[in-house]
Amino acid sequence: MAGFKLVTYQTESGPRAGIVLGETVFNAAELTGRPAYATMLAVLEDWPRANDLIRTATRGTPKAKGWKLSETHLRAPVLWPSAIYCAGANYSDHAAEMVARMNRPLDPNPKEKGGRSWHFLKSPRAIADPGEVIEAVWYTKKLDWEVELAAVIGRETKKATVATALDYVAGYTVANDVSARDLARRSEAAEGSPFSFDWTGQKCFDGSCPLGPWIVPADDIADPQNLALKLWVNDVLKQDSNTNKMIFSLAEQIAHLSHGMTLYPGDIILTGTPAGVGAGRGEFLKAGDVVKLEIERIGTLSNSIA
Ligand code: MG
Repeated sequence: MAGFKLVTYQTESGPRAGIVLGETVFNAAELTGRPAYATMLAVLEDWPRANDLIRTATRGTPKAKGWKLSETHLRAPVLWPSAIYCAGANYSDHAAEMVARMNRPLDPNPKEKGGRSWHFLKSPRAIADPGEVIEAVWYTKKLDWEVELAAVIGRETKKATVATALDYVAGYTVANDVSARDLARRSEAAEGSPFSFDWTGQKCFDGSCPLGPWIVPADDIADPQNLALKLWVNDVLKQDSNTNKMIFSLAEQIAHLSHGMTLYPGDIILTGTPAGVGAGRGEFLKAGDVVKLEIERIGTLSNSIA
């Protein structure tokens, strides 16, 4: 039998942590006998033990009563993390398409120059659920997509080394780093001004972080640096790459991020997007579009645009 997946599902009393086995969902607290595991954050805050308890409970026939996944209202798997870190320009082909539209030469490979990965932040409440309709065309004329492997932290992480960094990851999910390209620069700022960028305006509006549909445990993903990732708009393939093309690996990103700040259980790291975004193509999302993202061994995330 395939391994389990972690979900958050909606109930009349609010979002609850669930475990998916095949096509069946179980309440995480009932399945493990631990009432404290009501929410995904509670599960992740106790991750190494929760992982063992869930594995034991799902090895045979679960004693808890399950229900159909197809009749479940899935929410984004983590509601809500304390932080969402997003890697910038972390695939060389995406970096190339973004500078090409500005008629600039490609920046030197930061890793070869001894540099570090860099990240911007999204607000935790920017998360959107699987299937949620994204209402943003009123906000931006250049609404864009970015398929990204997202790692979910399962242990408090301080000064991780590259060698140990992946030990802090509970699992993986799919993220869309939805972007408002026309709001990336402040047109009123002077040419070359140090105040010309607006990362919050570009990356942090409501609905700008679709996430899901579930978390696949890290134990079941032998190598996060070898996963195919794809994105379609209205069934037309736009992005088609592999996480082996990242400049800074996830382990390097965790080591760099945790050098100066603590990562907490539930925190999410978006690891960057490959080439094929709308900005590089000169096309953007419009009302009625459906964006579908897929990462090998993890799953498919779909959202439509209002
Ligand atoms: Mg991105």
